[in-house]
Amino acid sequence: MRGLHRYDSILDAIGWTPIVRLNRITAGLPAEVWAKLEFLNPMGSVKDRIARHMIEKAEADGRLQPDGLILEASSGNTALGLALVAIQKGYKLKVVVRDSTSPEKIALLRALGVDIEFVDASLPPEHPDSYNNKAPRLARGLSGCFFPDQHNNRENNETHYLTTGPEIWEQMEGRIDYFVAGMGTGGTVAGVGRYLKERNPHIKVIAVEPEGSVFAEYFRTGRRPQPKRYLMEGLGDEFIIGTADFEPLDDVVQVSDGEAFLTARRLAREEGIVAGGSSGAVLAVVLKLARELPPGTRIVTLFPDSGFRYASTIYNDQWMHEHGFTVEPGS
Ligand code: PMP
Repeated sequence: MRGLHRYDSILDAIGWTPIVRLNRITAGLPAEVWAKLEFLNPMGSVKDRIARHMIEKAEADGRLQPDGLILEASSGNTALGLALVAIQKGYKLKVVVRDSTSPEKIALLRALGVDIEFVDASLPPEHPDSYNNKAPRLARGLSGCFFPDQHNNRENNETHYLTTGPEIWEQMEGRIDYFVAGMGTGGTVAGVGRYLKERNPHIKVIAVEPEGSVFAEYFRTGRRPQPKRYLMEGLGDEFIIGTADFEPLDDVVQVSDGEAFLTARRLAREEGIVAGGSSGAVLAVVLKLARELPPGTRIVTLFPDSGFRYASTIYNDQWMHEHGFTVEPGS
């Protein structure tokens, strides 16, 4: 029962996350900033939503058989969401992750009994063993294996069109001027953006990615630049993937690793909200917008995962220092 928050299954507790207003970090800024806290999903990220939807779609049309194997490539959060759904429904799970994925996510995946295949994050995208190439190749070689393929499967975007978007519209009672969200697969920003624009075409939708990713230049010029490495987990890509739906987007903005990580730490210190680096990236863009927009403008953003996933990386002063980011005492 949704109203009492009492459910027959943990899977029914996915979604309907709170939206909270940011009051302190925004002090003195004319626009209102609201954030949807997706790290309050059961396995701790926005990706619980797509894990459930993609698996249930595959069950319904026979792509996934009882006791079957699921294989996916993930920056960690989709893998964790899939682990939750797989455990509840009795499937086996194998995931391909970069060796740069945070130790917290890897430890959790192991504890959940997930079979992990690492890829060298420094391999060029064209390499047969690169992150983007390895999972489809492994999936082709395993009979009866379901490959959700979150980077190309538009059921990913559909999840957000059917759930996250309508929740935001209802929670904000339709009073939204901007929606700003990170772009990894693009499922969140494009799926929510499409829904919100259907309700009100005046809403501006802004995607955020790390410097070094390829979406912003592709959006502006139609060309794919040479990708560069970055540390932020969960955002950006080296290819223009199938879920990258640019139609609902008004702009794609880049943020550096340093600005993203330091803004996430500011969010923790100034609001007590402990979120991941991708939340810091979107918030950096939102705070700049909130400074420039007229009083009362409502900006809605979304925090995909928790900072507890990054206690040994972006919330660790020594790690920040080793990676060249200046951490002032208390920042
Ligand atoms: N932030 C984090 C931490 C993520 O794991 C992801 C998913 N890759 C995103 C943001 C982006 O979400 P999407 O794939 O829907 O664009």
